[in-house]
This record gives sequence, C-alpha cells and structure tokens, in this order.
Amino acid sequence: MAKEYMSMRNLRFLLHDVMNVEQLTKYERFTDHNKEMFDLMLDTAKQIADTHMFPIYEEMDEKKPTMGDGVVHVHPNIKDIMRETGESGWIVAQEDYEHGGQQMPHTVYNAANFIFHAANTSAASYFGLTMGAAELISSFGSKELQETYMTKMFAGQWQGTMALTEPHAGSSLGDIYTSATDAGDGSYRIKGQKIFISAGDHDGVENIVHLMLAKIDGAPAGSKGISLFVVPKKRPENGTLVSNDVTTAGFEGKMGMKGCPVAHLVMGDNNDCHGWLVGEPNNGLKYMFQMMNGARISVGVMSCGLSSAAYYASLEYANERPQGRTHSNRDLTSPMELIINYADVKRMLLFQKSVMEGGLALVMQCALYADLAKVCEGADKEKYQLLLDLLTPMAKTYPAEMSVQSTSQGMQVLGGAGFCSDFPLQQYYRDTRINPIYEGTTGIQAMDLLGRKVTMKMGAAVIAFGAELQETIKAGFAVEALKPRAEKLAAAATKFQEVTMKLMTLAQSEKPEVFLADATLYLENAGILAVAWQWLKQALVVEQKLAEGQSGEELKFYKGKQAAFEYFFEYELPKSIGLTKRLLSDYRLTLDLDPEYLN
Ligand SMILES: Cc1cc2nc3c(=O)[nH]c(=O)nc-3n(C[C@H](O)[C@H](O)[C@H](O)COP(=O)(O)OP(=O)(O)OC[C@H]3O[C@@H](n4cnc5c(N)ncnc54)[C@H](O)[C@@H]3O)c2cc1C
Repeated sequence: MAKEYMSMRNLRFLLHDVMNVEQLTKYERFTDHNKEMFDLMLDTAKQIADTHMFPIYEEMDEKKPTMGDGVVHVHPNIKDIMRETGESGWIVAQEDYEHGGQQMPHTVYNAANFIFHAANTSAASYFGLTMGAAELISSFGSKELQETYMTKMFAGQWQGTMALTEPHAGSSLGDIYTSATDAGDGSYRIKGQKIFISAGDHDGVENIVHLMLAKIDGAPAGSKGISLFVVPKKRPENGTLVSNDVTTAGFEGKMGMKGCPVAHLVMGDNNDCHGWLVGEPNNGLKYMFQMMNGARISVGVMSCGLSSAAYYASLEYANERPQGRTHSNRDLTSPMELIINYADVKRMLLFQKSVMEGGLALVMQCALYADLAKVCEGADKEKYQLLLDLLTPMAKTYPAEMSVQSTSQGMQVLGGAGFCSDFPLQQYYRDTRINPIYEGTTGIQAMDLLGRKVTMKMGAAVIAFGAELQETIKAGFAVEALKPRAEKLAAAATKFQEVTMKLMTLAQSEKPEVFLADATLYLENAGILAVAWQWLKQALVVEQKLAEGQSGEELKFYKGKQAAFEYFFEYELPKSIGLTKRLLSDYRLTLDLDPEYLN
C-alpha cells in the first residue's frame, strides 16, 4: 500500500488561496464559521480517512460482500464507518442548524469528501449516499417523513439510497415501470424492480431507506409522470420495524468498487410494499435532480480522489524504481537510473497531476458556485446558479473520463507491477471505471450540456461562463510571465464561442439529432477549456507567491504547480484544436451511417 493518497497542502491552496472560501463567512448562513474551523474540519476528515478508511481500501476489494440467509454481508468496518461519520456529524454537516446540521459550506464538505474518496471510495459511498437521500427528505419530505427517517439517516444508523434504474430503463428514466397505487392510508403500494442500487442492501446498518422513483397509476407518460417515494426495507410500525416486502434478488458482480454492493431489488411480490410520497405527485424527477446534481459533483470529487491516490502511488514507485540508464550514459557499471528521471515518466506523472489537480479545482469551483447561489440574492444568485448548471456536466465528466486515463497512466508508470494485485494501481483503475457511467453516462451529460444548459435562457449560462473566462484571461494578460498562456486560453475561448454559435444555428435549422451528434466532443472540449481556466487561476496565485519569495517545501510546492500548469497548456489545451476542427466540420459520418455497416 502506498504511503500517501492526497495532498492537504494542495487542498488548502485551492480552498484558501484560489477560491478564498472564507469569503462565504460574510453571509448570514456561514457567519459562525471561519478559516480555522474549515481547516479543523479538513484535519478531522483526514484523521477519519487515515484511521478508518485508507487501511481497509484493498481489503474491501479482496473480501467483497457476500449474500447468505437473505442478508448481504459487507466488510465489518462499514458499521463503524457509518457510526463514526454519523456521530461525528459528517452526514448531517451541510444541513441547517434546525435539522441538527452545521451549515457547512458545500465547498468545504466537498474538500472533505475528496479526502474520503481518495482514501477509500467504496467506504465513502455508503455515507455519501445516505447524506444525499436524507437531504432530499429534508428539502421536500413532509414533517412526518422528516421525523421518521432523517434523524436515523443523519446518525448513520439507516442507509439511504437513490433507486432509479430498472432493467430496461437506465439513461431513459421516463420509461420506468415501477408503479405506485394509492393504499388509502397515506401510503402507496409499490410494485416493480430496481437494479444496480448502490448500498441497496447490507448488514452494516439497521435499515435501508430507498428514495425511489415510481409512477402513480394513471400518471402522464414519460418523465412528467414520475413521482418520488420513500420506500424503506423495514417500515416503522407501532414502535418497531417490520418487513416492507422489498426483496434483494441478488447483487451484481462488478469489476471495481467491490466493497459497495449494488443490489437488484424486487418490490411488492406479496403486495405489501409501502412507499410514502415525497412532495407533490409527478414532480419526482425534479426533486431527484437535487440529489443527482449533488451526486454529479460528487462523482467529479470521487474521480479526483481516485486519480489523486493513483498519482501518489505511482509517484512513490517512480521515486524508488531503478531501471536502465539515460541515453547519454554509456557506463554500464554505473548504478541504474531511477525511472522518475526519464522525460517520458515525468510526462506521465505530469499528466496525472495536471488533470487531477485541474479537475479538482473545477469541482471545487462548482461547489463554491452552489454555496454562492444559495446565499446570494437577485442577479448574483441567478448568475451563480447558471454557472453551476452549465459547469456541472463538465465537473462530472472531465474528472471522470480523465480519471480512467490518468489511473491507466499510473499503471503504465509501474510497468508490469501496475498490472499486478500487489500494487494498488489496478484497483484504482478498476474502481474509477464506473465514474463516466453512473449518474448519467458521458453521452447523457453531453446532451444535457449542449441540448439544455447551453440553450437555456437564450444562452445566458454560456455568456456568464464567457465572462468568468474573460476575467481570468484579463488577469493573466496583466502578469508578464502568464501572457503567452493567457493568449492561448483567449484563442481557445474564441473558438469555443464559434463552435457554440455554429451548433446553435444548426439547432434552429435542423432536427435535434444533427446538432447533438457530436455532443460528447463538445463536452470534452468544454471540459478542457474549463480546466485550462482553472489552471490559469491557480497560476495567478502561484506567480504572486513565487514573487513574494519561497524556499524549501513551499518553493517545491509552487514549482510543482507551475510545471503542472505549463503541462496543461502545452499538452492538454492543444487537444482542443482537433476537437474544434471536428465540431466545425459539416461531415456527418455518425449521423448518416447505416448501423448495418457496423454489423
Ligand atoms: C456500479 C454501479 C452503481 C450504480 N448505482 C446506482 C444507484 O445507486 N442507483 C441507481 O438508480 N442506478 C445506479 N446505477 C445505474 C447507472 O446509473 C446506470 O447504469 C447508468 O445510468 C446507465 O444506464 P444503463 O446501464 O441502462 O445504460 P443505457 O442507458 O442502456 O446506456 C448504454 C449506452 O447508450 C448510450 N445512450 C443511451 N441513451 C442514449 C441516447 N438517447 N442518445 C445517445 N446515447 C444514448 C449511453 O450513453 C451509453 O453509452 C449504477 C450502476 C453501476 C454499474
């Protein structure tokens, strides 16, 4: 097992020096907080991660959950982790005081969440899902639902899940079959099946509470007819818990995230599965989007966490592995070179560092916009919400897709050892592969970005994003050393605008399939641009810190940052040129291709 899995120094740099998270404390919601408290929270998170999570990361992969006597047995420490994160207030941290929370900013919570996922992403999923599910009840549930479920969930005694997917309906939730029939007693009888439900059943908690999508009898077709229900595994009745006719038919075998089971659930086999409506009928998808948007940012965080752990593991190996000699050294009796001295190995490490730290900055930026959208009023509120909406698909997808590539590069740094189970790289690679798939595949995120977010409110979100870019570019032009790269970002931003205009024109003149055909490439391009923007923001701080004069570890930190920034602009940003070329082309290969030719 590697010694390090993340850098607290980098996290503090992003939070304080780049994002200035302390600015939030001027708003009433966060007045009780200060910089020292934020740091203390992160230190506590690191301690929990070091003590309870990181040591069992590999063990949870090897000793995967088992099913016996109708019970799903997970790693015994999950019980402690749920209790610990519940009792120490992590699950409820972002909630209002009146619900027992600490009104912790999303930005700080997401920083802590990054630590948890870097330490052990499977373990972190249990309480992350519980938090999201309990927050949904808090936002939209009746007082009765809140009193019955929230306290236990926030305390880590009951697991929360998001139960959307069905065997025939994953991306297309409008097609779900699970039905809800009014039982006449304030509840609905639920019938149907859900698959792939993370932490959907296990023995680490007393009860499982599914936040489940279903259709009330007679509801409109498609997503307009979806309602949200609380469907517990055991329902509270006369002061005790009784079975609620939710059966675990099995759980899927999977390539990664083995420590967290995904359950196949069957509801209502005995016509005795009860669900309680959350909010208004037929508004379920809208409510669920609160959890899904939070979960999309979380997937970005998870991906960065795994990329970070993989980076530090491969860095450690590269620092210790002697192999061969440099081309200019012909003395075969001389000691072998450490592989970290080879340009190609440095390139791989810089790739890992720059996409991970850049992606993390983007995710933190989104979390900050979420906080600002919550506490600001009027035009500011609207601006931050637009930016959050637009950037969420990028903050989910860029880190997720790059995590697959960067953990793969991490394996490459280790050579054959990277492929072997004695080293954790293969596990990071397997664990992160789900990230571009769940919470909306990359293809679905791309259509969300181009088909909805870019077009909404007459392009207001893209305009707001363009203004943020220009502000950073302007600041970059004002610093001599950053001018050439500010120019590159300005050029990429102009091209992005050109592509967007072209696609918007197509959207008006052709059927939607035409402008959406290469939406995934548009998203890829947007992600690169957004991360380049985040790197320029970081570089502005780095230049200032270096100008102040640094030495020792601090100098090393800022020089490392400078190298990763330069790498991003020299190696990653140019990828945007090829993508732009394709996006501006009128050649419709995929759209017009007869699928027969693929068979
Ligand atoms: C480990 C794991 C954990 C999960 N956890 C949960 C959970 O907790 N709760 C839950 O509800 N679900 C969960 N899921 C399910 C997950 O969200 C879905 O697998 C995902 O949304 C994709 O749905 P699908 O598998 O049905 O794929 P499909 O929807 O069948 O997609 C297959 C491919 O077709 C593409 N595609 C689909 N529709 C279109 C379209 N209209 N246009 C263009 N391309 C399209 C997709 O992008 C994808 O590449 C989990 C899945 C896994 C594997």
